[in-house]
Amino acid sequence: MARPRANSRPDPSAPSRPCEAPDCPEPGEYRAPKDRTRLREYHWFCLAHVRAYNLSWDFYKGMAPEQIEASLRQDTGWQRPTWPLGRLGHGRLDPELLRDPFGILSGAAARPKPPDPARPPPELRAALDLLDLSWPTDSVALKTRYKELAKRYHPDSNGGDRSSEDRLKDINRAYSLLRHKLAGVQASAR
Ligand SMILES: [Zn+2]
Repeated sequence: MARPRANSRPDPSAPSRPCEAPDCPEPGEYRAPKDRTRLREYHWFCLAHVRAYNLSWDFYKGMAPEQIEASLRQDTGWQRPTWPLGRLGHGRLDPELLRDPFGILSGAAARPKPPDPARPPPELRAALDLLDLSWPTDSVALKTRYKELAKRYHPDSNGGDRSSEDRLKDINRAYSLLRHKLAGVQASAR
């Protein structure tokens, strides 16, 4: 099955409105299909959030068609489990995030709470878990961990094993998301 992907560049046809992730002031210039049954309807996100959203499509990768169908049937919208659970292997995922990555179902979007610095932003939790990083973290710790994992899962270190290749792709995406976000955090803290 072809996997729909959100665009990686700002879309010239983007409506001029902010990113749909709650409390995100960035312009929503990147589109992402709402779900598998509504591929021509889009959410509009900023780059960081479209990347977070992109990760969600990987949840279906490797599922049998009946599993995907079962997952869609219990799906009420687009904010579904956002991570390839089968490849995580360490059970530290936040179940809240899986149900509702942007807090939309819980109504958190309507009642913004001040962010708790001790808790990672919801859209980063899956990526932090995948890289096994605790929060708060910084660019140096992120880079160090990324280098370790990239080496460990590089296909050349694993006899070209496909599962480590997939894992490496997830690691790359998680790294890219976190690097982008941490750079933003550090710039605004100055
Ligand atoms: Zn955003």
